[in-house]
Amino acid sequence: MSAQHEAGAATIHRVVILGAGYAGLSAAIQLASRVGPGENVRVTLVNAQERFTERLRLHMTASGQRLAELSIPELLEGTGAHFERGWVTAVDVNAKTVRIDDERVLPYDTLVYALGGVADTAAVPGVEDHAYTLNSAQDAEVLADRLSRLGRGTVVVVGSGLTGVESAAEIAERHPELNVVLLGRSEPGAAMNPKARAYVRAALDRLKVEVRSGAEVVKVLPGTVEVAGGESVAADAVLWTSGTRVSPLASAAGLTVDEHGRIVTDAALRSVSHPEVYAVGDAAAIRQGYGVMHGTCQSGMPTGVHAALSILRELKGKRPKPFRFGYYHTPVSLGRHDAVVQFTHPDDSPRRLHLTGRVAVRYKETVTAAPWPTWGRMKKMPASGVFWPRGGRFTRVREA
Ligand SMILES: Cc1cc2nc3c(=O)[nH]c(=O)nc-3n(C[C@H](O)[C@H](O)[C@H](O)COP(=O)(O)OP(=O)(O)OC[C@H]3O[C@@H](n4cnc5c(N)ncnc54)[C@H](O)[C@@H]3O)c2cc1C
Repeated sequence: MSAQHEAGAATIHRVVILGAGYAGLSAAIQLASRVGPGENVRVTLVNAQERFTERLRLHMTASGQRLAELSIPELLEGTGAHFERGWVTAVDVNAKTVRIDDERVLPYDTLVYALGGVADTAAVPGVEDHAYTLNSAQDAEVLADRLSRLGRGTVVVVGSGLTGVESAAEIAERHPELNVVLLGRSEPGAAMNPKARAYVRAALDRLKVEVRSGAEVVKVLPGTVEVAGGESVAADAVLWTSGTRVSPLASAAGLTVDEHGRIVTDAALRSVSHPEVYAVGDAAAIRQGYGVMHGTCQSGMPTGVHAALSILRELKGKRPKPFRFGYYHTPVSLGRHDAVVQFTHPDDSPRRLHLTGRVAVRYKETVTAAPWPTWGRMKKMPASGVFWPRGGRFTRVREA
């Protein structure tokens, strides 16, 4: 990798990071904090909003709770990283530029692609037009407004994955006047051990969430959700949390993507087709010994840190190391007063150990609140960001 851009006598290597979520911010802070004054690396972080979106808390926003104002430019202060607010509309991998808001063009030497993912609203007819999502803070606020004006009515939460469970519980707790129905293919907590799963079910029952498992939603219409087999469920509001979709920008740019549109990476997190592009977080298809990782915050932050370290190694003429990660927990909130934490093996399969009740609530809150102070520490002491579980024998199978 060579520095491209002349600035006076020095050459500047331009690293552009797209997306200031959990993964992109980890990459930006780790990289900018490690770059010394003599290294001539310019880090630019691009994001749609200046306010950090705490995706882990969007179900709280949707049920009418206010979140802290976390400013991305303020967090970057002192690191030397530049913040560019705007919506990325195209990536040109041949010209090595990104287009922002269809008007500005930003050149790069190395790109870090961290645009995340959202619920898949395109898979089932009617979802785009008639369902609410938690795809952004604004979307969650629109749903909160609708719920606050519903009075007595029925909210159908589609998707019995963890986002669906957390959302149904949170809405039921904050709006006891509403009927909340949780519709999905699998049992809530299906990936947990039997005791933890039973705890989730009991908590949902206590909150009077009506759980309908084994349901395949085939259409969403105004006021109704149609389920395979002909059944219809009346709904005054539908929240769609099912599936994952990523931005089409990577595929449109000609980067190699998987069947979900995620950028396929090599062991060091570089695009297999364009090695000057790193892909991290939910937007990347990263293979480990146990399979392709699924997007989470716990894995997204390490991918960002690893990309930053790899870029620095390449700038020093060294080979980047393979990324290794093993999952360790699945913390799930069940409203504000209850939670379950399922501890996992590195491949994300459940261990016997799990926490419930107040201890789990405290654990979940600690984990959810951790990214901001973690980045604050990383600014002062970049090495503090490099500790995460590598997965042991589960990930010890391949070379860079
Ligand atoms: C309600 C909810 C609860 C969750 N709970 C957990 C949990 O408990 N534990 C866990 O590990 N995971 C949880 N997740 C999943 C977790 O939020 C994601 O895995 C994580 O956010 C992925 O991080 P990321 O940096 O890849 O993407 P994101 O955090 O989504 O960040 C992507 C950023 O890119 C920006 N962006 C996207 N497109 C563009 C564009 N074209 N131009 C400019 N900017 C753009 C977005 O605005 C955003 O700021 C939860 C998700 C939800 C919705």
